[in-house]
Amino acid sequence: MDELTTRAPTVPLEAGAGPDNPPCPACGEPLFGWLADEEQLGAPVRRCESCGLGIVGKSAGTEEALAALDRLGDQERARIVDRASVACAIGGAGWAGLEPGAHYLFTVESVRRLVARRDQVVRRRRWVPGRSLAITWQTLLNSVTFGHNVALAALGSAAAAPAGKRWQRRIDALASIVLAIPAALVAVPVELSGALFRRGAVVDLRYELL
Ligand SMILES: [Zn+2]
Repeated sequence: MDELTTRAPTVPLEAGAGPDNPPCPACGEPLFGWLADEEQLGAPVRRCESCGLGIVGKSAGTEEALAALDRLGDQERARIVDRASVACAIGGAGWAGLEPGAHYLFTVESVRRLVARRDQVVRRRRWVPGRSLAITWQTLLNSVTFGHNVALAALGSAAAAPAGKRWQRRIDALASIVLAIPAALVAVPVELSGALFRRGAVVDLRYELL
């Protein structure tokens, strides 16, 4: 059998488009389900398997996604919590980037596609060490707490979704204190290796007109 006949047939991603798989506002490829209805988000999350963009609930399209991006900076820069990061890959539903109220979950590639719609090109990307470590640390803690982003919220640097019951919130507070240092000891090598492979948790991007 020759090489051509043994290779699996190539199915274009567009073939999966339909009501359940609306087009990605950044690149136009169909979106697929990623997370079920997470309590702190209030809607299921879809993701684009081409550019990596994540969307909580529905999208009104490219203009809305660009407006959401601009709110993370201005029309020439943005700081994103990268959905293509190692922290997100290991955290899944516990990823600290899933803050209450989040709608668009950007990746560097999705930003590149979006700003290209207004003739901009990404000129610089820069890993943000401190914030990245905080996000990875909180992602690890989220795997053992009932609530979400409890520790960073207590430090005043994230929006939390506290657990529903008082005893759960007490356990979360205790766990966050007891596990703070062990989680940090794991977060540092995880985040450093992520940064090494350009998959750090938080990235500053600058873009300009072509
Ligand atoms: Zn996409």
